[in-house]
This record gives sequence, structure tokens and C-alpha cells, in this order.
Amino acid sequence: MIKAQIPEIKSLLSTPKSIVIVPHKNPDGDAMGSTLGLYHYLKSYNHNAVVIAPNDYPDFLKWLPGDDKVLKFESQQEESKTLIDNADLLFTLDFNAFHRAGNDMAEVLEATKATKIMIDHHQQPDDYATYTYSDVSMSSTCEMVYNFIEMLGDLNKIDTTIATCLYTGIMTDTGSFRFPSTTSRTHQIIGNLIDKGANNSDIHNNIYDTNTYSRLQLLGRAMQNLKVIPELSTAYITLSQAELDEFNFKKGDTEGFVNYGLSLKDIIFAAIFIENKQENIIKISFRSKGNFSVNQFSRAHFNGGGHDNAAGGRSDDSLEATVEKFISILPQYRNDLSQTAQIGH
Ligand code: 5GP
Ligand code: MN
Repeated sequence: MIKAQIPEIKSLLSTPKSIVIVPHKNPDGDAMGSTLGLYHYLKSYNHNAVVIAPNDYPDFLKWLPGDDKVLKFESQQEESKTLIDNADLLFTLDFNAFHRAGNDMAEVLEATKATKIMIDHHQQPDDYATYTYSDVSMSSTCEMVYNFIEMLGDLNKIDTTIATCLYTGIMTDTGSFRFPSTTSRTHQIIGNLIDKGANNSDIHNNIYDTNTYSRLQLLGRAMQNLKVIPELSTAYITLSQAELDEFNFKKGDTEGFVNYGLSLKDIIFAAIFIENKQENIIKISFRSKGNFSVNQFSRAHFNGGGHDNAAGGRSDDSLEATVEKFISILPQYRNDLSQTAQIGH
């Protein structure tokens, strides 16, 4: 769709504009990589651009170029609101429904008169944007931002800074280039980004090898809590608030834990349930292999969504009640979760 609209977007961007770029709440590597990559690109045209994240993000993303310029809506509401109210253009990246920015920020996004551009790879996009670039087959929003810059005829504008941001998001959203959404084109783009100056080894190191001791201890506890339901090819992990406190939990510490469940032989569905006493919810991550859609599962039962093989959700029940509900629902999916239903088996 967006290709035909590129001339209009090009003309919009031909004079300096006030531009706000927003990732989803609890931004991950793709959300921050794509918003900052786009930010540096727009800055190179002297636009008055700013990234406003709904809330804070993990320390392992805080080395990204431009991190020090990012506003956090949660702690800088007035300034953020003024910028969004007065923006000419609003880019929403790596999400496709305003509520994914959190309820307070969603209200402000809904109210602004700014022209809206969505770039996103999640399922079932809302239709708030004037220009919607939505493609669920894409590995990452960062890959789409690369395509967007290419469609604008500006690949030569990608410098080391932009390349570093985009490399980061493609890497994190593809599980370091291993998920099925990783295509030869993804690798070609990654190759181009390395040619533009992205340092693959440094980026991997900054993201994956900056653990704290307490995070690894928390991982140890999560592994002890891992439960397997072999007849339904399912594994799940729980972490209570007390356990998080015991290991000095910081934002981002549980990132990737759910994948350990999925790394078990013959397991095709994995979940992690994390208690958050402050928000009074259980935050859930779902992952799957093959045809079992965790997006549909989460939408149907846990107020969430995402992709076919990676989705999030939440529950207002207690940790125990949430897990009980999960276990009680699973048998409905016995056919989908049986080994023979899966490719490769
Ligand atoms: P995670 O489990 O890592 O938080 O999220 C997995 C994927 O699902 C990410 O792409 C994320 O953006 C999406 N996601 C996480 N939580 C939700 C949610 O509550 N609703 C929707 N629609 N998507 C979510
Ligand atoms: Mn993403």
C-alpha cells in the first residue's frame, strides 16, 4: 500500500516539520532501534524530531545512539503532551493500536491533529493512521524502517548511527537471526547495515553480555520454577513479586526467559507469568513454534496479542489463579498442540 503514497510522504517531509516518534509501552530492542533509527534519519533533514517512549526501558538498550534525547511520557507528561499536541507528524512504530502506548498516552495520541504514519509488523492493525505501512511477514519494524528509507530513495542517508539502531532491532526481534521471519532479504539488509558501519560484535555484546549477577540468579530461579506438560507440548515459568524482589529485579531482567521453555525438545508452546504487584497484574509472555498462534490464544484468553509465534498478555487474577486458568484452557487446544500437527515432526 505505502509505495503509491511515497510521493505524498516525500512531499510532507520536504520542509522541516515537528515530528513525534512513538514506540509501544515497555519498549524492546526493535521499538527503540526503529524509533531512534528513524529519528536520526529525520534529523539529517533538519526536522524537529523527538522520540517519546510511553515509559522507561531496560538498561541494555541505553547505549543506543540518541538514548539521552528520548523523552518518557510517564515521567515527562506535560512536555510530552505539548509536543504531541503541536506535532505536524506522528510516527507510531512497532505497534498498531493506541492502547499499546498505555491508556494515558493513548488519549493524547488520539487527540492530536498530527498526520499519522504507522510502521508496524503486528497482526490486526487499527485504522488511525493516514499512512499505514503494516506487514506481518516482516522480521522487525527496523527492517521496515530500512525499507521505508529505501522507498524514499535515501539509502545513502544511512550512516553508522542509523545502521547501529536498525541492526539492533532486527537482531533482537529475530532472536539473533533465527526466527522463521528471518529471510535472505533480512540478511542482505543486515549485510548492508554492517557495510554502513554497524559493529555486529559490539552490538551483540552491548545487548546480551551486560548481565548483572542478580539477573543470572533470577534466571536460575526461573529455571527451577519451569514446569512441563509433555502431553500438551507446553512449558511454563512463574515468577512471583517476592522472587523478583529477592533478586533485585530491574526492568528487562526477565527478557528472553520464556525462550528457555521453548528450547526444550518437543516443546512447541511456552509461557512465562510474571507478577507485578505495583500494577496489580500478571504480565504474560507466550511463545510458540510452528502453526500454533499465540496471538490468537492471547487475544482469546489473556487480553493481549502480538505475532503468531510471540505474543504478550495480562491477567488481573492472582498468579496462582492465572496459572490455573492457563492449565484449564490448554486441553481445548490438544489437537493444535499435538506433535503431529507441527511441521518438522
Ligand atoms: P513480549 O512477550 O516480549 O512482551 O511481547 C511479545 C510480542 O507481543 C511483542 O511483539 C509485543 O509487542 C507483543 N505484545 C506484548 N504484549 C502485548 C499486549 O498486551 N497486546 C498486544 N496486542 N501485543 C502485545
Ligand atoms: Mn517488533
